[in-house]
This record gives sequence, structure tokens and C-alpha cells, in this order.
Amino acid sequence: MSWVDHLVCWFAEYKRSLPWRESNDAYAVWVSEIMLQQTRIEAVLGYYQRFMRAFPTVEALAGAPLERVLKLWEGLGYYSRARNLHKAAQQIVERGGFPRTSAELQTLAGIGEYTAGAIAAIAFGEPALAIDGNVMRVVSRLYALEEDVLLASSRKHVKELLLQVYPKNRASDFVQGLMELGELVCIPKTPRCESCPLQTDCQALARGLQTRLPLRVPKTKQRLEHRIVCIVQKEGKVLLFQRPQEGLLQGLWEYPNVLAAEPKKARSALKETYGIDLKPLELMGKAEHVYTHIRWQMQFFRAEAGSDFAAARRPYRWATREELRQDIMLPTAFKKIDWEEWS
Ligand code: SF4
Repeated sequence: MSWVDHLVCWFAEYKRSLPWRESNDAYAVWVSEIMLQQTRIEAVLGYYQRFMRAFPTVEALAGAPLERVLKLWEGLGYYSRARNLHKAAQQIVERGGFPRTSAELQTLAGIGEYTAGAIAAIAFGEPALAIDGNVMRVVSRLYALEEDVLLASSRKHVKELLLQVYPKNRASDFVQGLMELGELVCIPKTPRCESCPLQTDCQALARGLQTRLPLRVPKTKQRLEHRIVCIVQKEGKVLLFQRPQEGLLQGLWEYPNVLAAEPKKARSALKETYGIDLKPLELMGKAEHVYTHIRWQMQFFRAEAGSDFAAARRPYRWATREELRQDIMLPTAFKKIDWEEWS
């Protein structure tokens, strides 16, 4: 037997009895999946039963006042889930019924790829996938994948592996079996391999990697930098300086800017860096830009420049809007506010 057969048989025998599993009805599966996002099963059970008593059908939910839906959601948190549930119920009623494919389900409010895949597979038998952290963990261990599970490429790889073995006539049990195994047996720190139906197929277990996988590569910590950015305009042009030929963004053109959190403190640093007097006057906007190791928090100021450009310490130019759009490579960080509306 393949691991898929082992999984599906195990699920048929050992699955927990949960209220939304009684019918595998699309509405029930949908409500449960939305409630289970960021919330544990034990916490969801009572809410689910109250919710379904109050709104037993998608029509009942669509016709209910939003306040009542939110009231029944009280305590579950993340209220946008309840708002979207209500909105999507109205969309379903307007369209004359539940969409039956994962692609169509994703056009409804609050339904992403995971939830759409779960509903399509469980309620309609579509060979769709619902890949969350649990499924990533199970598959990473089963195939001993030494890839960072947080990367989109790893998710794509897991998807390809699962599609290669997908039992097309057992979509519901396959998708739920993977979820259930990840929740009950192949758990995060201490997988219960001794009672796992996949133990003879599991490559992580064979190689003793089961507690080392899945792999998560910690993100490098980013240094926070506050920057004051000066937008100096003259006769429809804006002042740019060239960055040094080494380091970050080497040789690119930029608006004059320095490390500082307040405009007053920026002036001497501006003079020091650019050789001319630059005076930030009025805040135009704020923006953030993240590089691999640095996070810039920028405040853009309309600014004035002194007239002594002979003392400039870096190459400078006055650029028209057209040149900025077409010819000049401005770092993305500086494109984050539209200063033109201030001219
Ligand atoms: S054998 Fe262990 S590591 Fe492998 S799938 Fe089962 S529980 Fe997970």
C-alpha cells in the first residue's frame, strides 16, 4: 500500500467526530474552516454549534443583521472573519447557490486558496489541496524535505508532490487525513511516530530527522533607520544627488536624505553630507521601505536649498518629472510618496 492508502484508511478509522464532519455540507465546512483560522478546535466547538443553531443555512446567515452575526462571534476575535462570512453568504445567495469549484470559491469575500481548497475537496470531491502549516510539516517530514517551509518555493514543491499522488476519488478523506495527521500525530515538537500510519513510508523517521524538520530559516534581524528626505523643487524640477559609488544603492540618484528622526536634527547632517544648506519645511508624507538588513522609516519634507551649489559635495542635478519617470533610476524607497501633488 502507498502512504496515501495508509493515510486514507487511518483517517476513515480514527478521525475525530466533529460536528461539521457529520454532513460534509459546504456551508458547514466553510463556517468551521473560517472559525478554525487562528483558533483551536476545542475553543471553536461551542461557537460553531451556537452559530449553526442561529444560522442553519447560508440563506439564514445572508438575511441576518450583521450586528447579530458579530454578537455570536464575540470572543472568537478577528472580527473581519465574521464580516466576510456575512458578506460572502450574501454573495452566494445572490449567485443562486454555493460555487462548486475552488477557483470560483476564491471569488467570495474572505475565502483564500486554503479555505477554497478545503471546501472544494471535502464538500464537492474536487481534487483540490488545502495546504497550511500542518500539511507543510507532515509532507516535509514524509519526504525529508530540507527546504525552508516559509518560502513560497517550498509550498509549491509540496503542492507538486501531493498532486502527483492525489487519490482523485478520495479527495475529502485525503485532504482531511493530512490535516488530522498534522493535528494529532505528526505534531510540531514531538511527533508521535510510534502510532503514525505513515511510519514505514516516512523518510524523516528513517533518517532520524523527524524532530529537525520542518526547516525554518530564521530571518535576519533588520536594523531600523529613521530618515528625513528632502524634496526641493525649482521651476518644475526636483533636486537629486548621486549616491556614492560604493555601498547600498551605489551610484543611483536620490533625494537628499539623512539619518534623523526630526527635521531640526537633520539640518547639520544634511549640510555635512551634501555640502549645501538644506532646510526641511513641511511634512509631505511618511513611508517605509525594507531592504534585506535595514528598514527605512522615511519622512518626506518639502524643503528649501541654499544657493551655494559650488560647495556641493556630491554630483547633483535638477530633474524634470519626465526624466524621473523615464530616464533616471530612482531607488524604489523614494517612489513611495507622490510629491508631485505638492508642486
Ligand atoms: S513517522 Fe513521525 S515524522 Fe513521519 S509522518 Fe509520521 S509522525 Fe510524522
